[in-house]
Amino acid sequence: MSSLLRKLPAVEHVLQHAEIEVLLSQLPRDVVLEQVRQTIQEWRRMLLENQLPFPDYEKCTEVVSRLAEQVKEKLLPNTRPRLRRVINATGVVLHTNLGRAVLAPTAIEAVITAASGYTNLELDLATGKRGSRYAHVENLLTLITGAEAAMVVNNNAAAVLLCLSTLAKGKEVIVSRGQLVEIGGSFRIPEVMEQSGAFLVEVGATNKTYLRDYERAITPETALLLQVHTSNYRIVGFTRETPLAELVELGQRAGLPVMCDLGSGFLVDMRNLGLPYEPSVPEVVRTGADIVTFSGDKLLGGPQAGIIVGKRVYIEKMRQNPLTRALRIDKMTVAALEATLREYLPGDKNLLSIPTYRMLAMSREEHKHKARELAGLLEEAAGGRAEIEMLEGNSAVGGGAMPTADLPATLIGVKPNNMSVSELATNLRQGEPAVMGRLQDDRLLFDVRTLLKGEEILLAAALAAALTRREAGRGCTI
Ligand SMILES: *Cc1c(COP(=O)(O)O)cnc(C)c1O
Repeated sequence: MSSLLRKLPAVEHVLQHAEIEVLLSQLPRDVVLEQVRQTIQEWRRMLLENQLPFPDYEKCTEVVSRLAEQVKEKLLPNTRPRLRRVINATGVVLHTNLGRAVLAPTAIEAVITAASGYTNLELDLATGKRGSRYAHVENLLTLITGAEAAMVVNNNAAAVLLCLSTLAKGKEVIVSRGQLVEIGGSFRIPEVMEQSGAFLVEVGATNKTYLRDYERAITPETALLLQVHTSNYRIVGFTRETPLAELVELGQRAGLPVMCDLGSGFLVDMRNLGLPYEPSVPEVVRTGADIVTFSGDKLLGGPQAGIIVGKRVYIEKMRQNPLTRALRIDKMTVAALEATLREYLPGDKNLLSIPTYRMLAMSREEHKHKARELAGLLEEAAGGRAEIEMLEGNSAVGGGAMPTADLPATLIGVKPNNMSVSELATNLRQGEPAVMGRLQDDRLLFDVRTLLKGEEILLAAALAAALTRREAGRGCTI
């Protein structure tokens, strides 16, 4: 035993190893030192418990190298950027885990400009006086949506929180039981309501809510009628929700504002893309909703933001709310949002330059054509190590939007011969760049809808690499 323990190197000795010296040039010394200490301690504990740190430990003459290697393995992830590029081959256009919308080239350029120099973020260049960061997008939003006023916060969850806190703190808000949604990541209407200090009054049933249900629930304590878009689910069958127009009429009669949380709001009619009918933001504004909130990075195709449009009196009140300062957007968001919104202006309307829109607009033929091309590349990359086939299926809008939308797609199935499908998926996920596909049955599915220009080649190269089995840990000199 003592001879085994004696083989353990001293900390100083390990620190002089070439691999560790490389780590010392990339990470704080204390961090490396601590990891070396911990690894030696762990090996000592194993030896005392009659286990060997690795099988050939007794005979190995390069214990230091093995130890250094283990330290390196532990610390290596810290030396590389964690936020990395991922090739989205899932066909889910607005994939929240993959960062939702990809920005349009004009938006990317605007972000670079804003980030790399000074801007008039809060300066009115006309008067030389202090300006508002929201001014850069307010005008555009009112032009495009037809609303009287607009403002923007960090995300739509923040927008809902701010609206409820401003308009209904300490008061009651009436919501249909069919609309008490949860949007992944703990955004739940009842909980946001609680945070805002407003009291939730549920009316109707899960499947049916009538105007008279809202009407009966109105008391002197009522501050707001709220309609929430059931973004990520549908109640089908024997159902009824009260149309917004009826709620607006009731609100006017009772002197109460009506708010609409649209979730993934969009600015143009999406039916021409073959998507199911849902009212666009301008339509909801025309119907008479007093406040409308929606996300910047869902179907709009811009940066993460929560957009609030509506009647000036309410928007003014929100600006005065101290929460607004805590939820404010940064200059890069202002830049990206302004550029994205400009793409929607009738004059220079160029929606196909917005990747989200372009992906959704991809025709059946174009999709099939691209899938064929990719299948050819993958076939070549696999070199007989996997079966490649084409199958009919669907892409998804994602981002909790239009869960029942039918986006027909030609998918490419990959079935490896030399490893399991989940092993292949893991290798692709851990590769550089990482690749995400869809695991289904015993195949990995790739969808070209969400691939960006030039990614087909990268995907093929990634597949070739992923089909090559990783070698298990290096041996040692005995
Ligand atoms: C997505 C969504 C939200 C949250 O929006 P974020 O921009 O992700 O914060 C809120 N309400 C509805 C109905 C949604 O669909």
